[in-house]
Amino acid sequence: MPLKAITRNRRRRNAVTLISGLLPVLLGAAILYMQAGRALKHDTKQTAEEGVRQFDLMLDNTAQAAHELLPLAGQSCSDVKLALREQVTRRPFVRSTNLVWDNNLYCSSLFGDYQEKVNPGDYTQGALWLMNGNPVTPNTALLVYRLSEDKKGALTTLDGYHLSNVLRLIGRKTLLLLQVGPGWMSTDGKVHTGTAPILPVAQSRLTSGRYAFAVQAGFPKGETWRYMSSEYPPLFSLLIFFGVIAGSIGHFVQKRASAPTQEMQRALEAAEFIPYFQPVVHGDSKSWSGAEVLMRWNHPKEGLVRPDLFIPFAEHSGLIVPMTRSLMKQTAALLGPQSARFSKPFHIGLNITASHCRDLELVRDCREFLAAFEPDSIHLVLELTERELIEPTAITLQLFEQLRELGVKIAIDDFGTGHSSLGYLRQFNVDFLKIDQSFVAMIGIDTLSSHILDSIIELAVKLDLALVAEGVETHEQSDYLSAHQVNFLQGYLFGKPMPAAEFISALSDH
Ligand code: C2E
Ligand code: CA
Ligand code: CA
Repeated sequence: MPLKAITRNRRRRNAVTLISGLLPVLLGAAILYMQAGRALKHDTKQTAEEGVRQFDLMLDNTAQAAHELLPLAGQSCSDVKLALREQVTRRPFVRSTNLVWDNNLYCSSLFGDYQEKVNPGDYTQGALWLMNGNPVTPNTALLVYRLSEDKKGALTTLDGYHLSNVLRLIGRKTLLLLQVGPGWMSTDGKVHTGTAPILPVAQSRLTSGRYAFAVQAGFPKGETWRYMSSEYPPLFSLLIFFGVIAGSIGHFVQKRASAPTQEMQRALEAAEFIPYFQPVVHGDSKSWSGAEVLMRWNHPKEGLVRPDLFIPFAEHSGLIVPMTRSLMKQTAALLGPQSARFSKPFHIGLNITASHCRDLELVRDCREFLAAFEPDSIHLVLELTERELIEPTAITLQLFEQLRELGVKIAIDDFGTGHSSLGYLRQFNVDFLKIDQSFVAMIGIDTLSSHILDSIIELAVKLDLALVAEGVETHEQSDYLSAHQVNFLQGYLFGKPMPAAEFISALSDH
């Protein structure tokens, strides 16, 4: 069991260390991830804005050519051919110009006289058509601008080369698309039909306020991590540094917290907790009526350690239960063989705490303890301190019922320092009250304390409870208590707590 418990503890400690180390790293990484997302979004928004600005400027140029040519529509092609070509040479983005009459393209800057039907439905909002090429240059994309008024019409085209150039130059690391109605163009200059693909990271879409097109900017999948790994290495090192610090703090805090418990677990396995025995005497004859078992820690380096220094830790960690069990086993082994020499019944007092009362295991421990002595040679007295009252739950009432059936007696320790009620004393069938040593010490010194002592004695008489006075050090105290019918006395005057061998050898003298 101990080995399993130790590995379980170590595993839990490692887990807590790992969590306290990882937490700042993960939290920091999440914040950096969000920050990177914001930076990328800002980037794509700016790129989209710049794209719209550039395409607006290029379309302005193309639209101006159309505006200048529109009044000429209807005139014979041979008369306006030169004007058409002049616009192409004068304007940097215009690739060709055409005139339309009644939805018939009849004159072109490229071919002069020409015949082709114009379908206004091909043009988004009647004005823009992004196409993959025309009969002259089938594989070079172009954007056609249409201007019309009554039967007059002018078509000017913008070379796809300029469009893809802008997409490439502005986009750089960003993916940038130009969408005109059902057609869209990517950086490779190809025109596709259908809806443009969603750009996985930080997509921004912006529609021009002046022409019928939109621009879409974004990044490929995994860009956020790529961005972080190229921009944030110093911050990552800082995070790892914080993680190591937090992990180490977590590790040391746990180590410190578990140190006393571990040390006591080790001591328990090494059987370093041993019983000392302090005699309890009859109030009248002063002969030994029994003993209280008091725990000592026989520490390999510190020597004999007093219980008030380690019992609180033992209670806190729950180790008090196996420690008491060990104390009971040792006491049974040491005193059991002495049964014949006891003045019967010999009282053996054992201190127990509330944590013993959470289940019925104490009954088994007491039964084993009693079995080590000659029948009816002892009374086992369990001492419960008044400062830590036990709650009357179904399980505790059952426990005390079974203990009573075994013949085990109950004493309230340090009586007068807590606040047990009469109901409490009855509920747990208390047999003894142990008057706290602070009241005994005040005998002949402080009248108020003496009054309290007198009322405790009176109460015990009324309730028919036996009384034990603790901490009797002087003859004056002893005489006072005996005169007031206190049944049992315990204190340095009659004997200090002593090791088993000394107690056993002194037994016959008393
Ligand atoms: P306690 O149960 O009230 O035990 C009586 C304490 O008074 C003992 O201290 C004893 O040595 C001391 N004492 C006895 N006579 C005199 C006296 O004439 N004058 C003075 N000044 N002191 C006297 P100890 O052994 O140091 O134990 C202290 C406390 O530790 C105990 O108080 C008890 O609450 C706890 N303890 C001791 N052993 C155990 C144990 O096995 N289990 C548990 N749960 N608690 C224990
Ligand atoms: Ca006690
Ligand atoms: Ca006490």
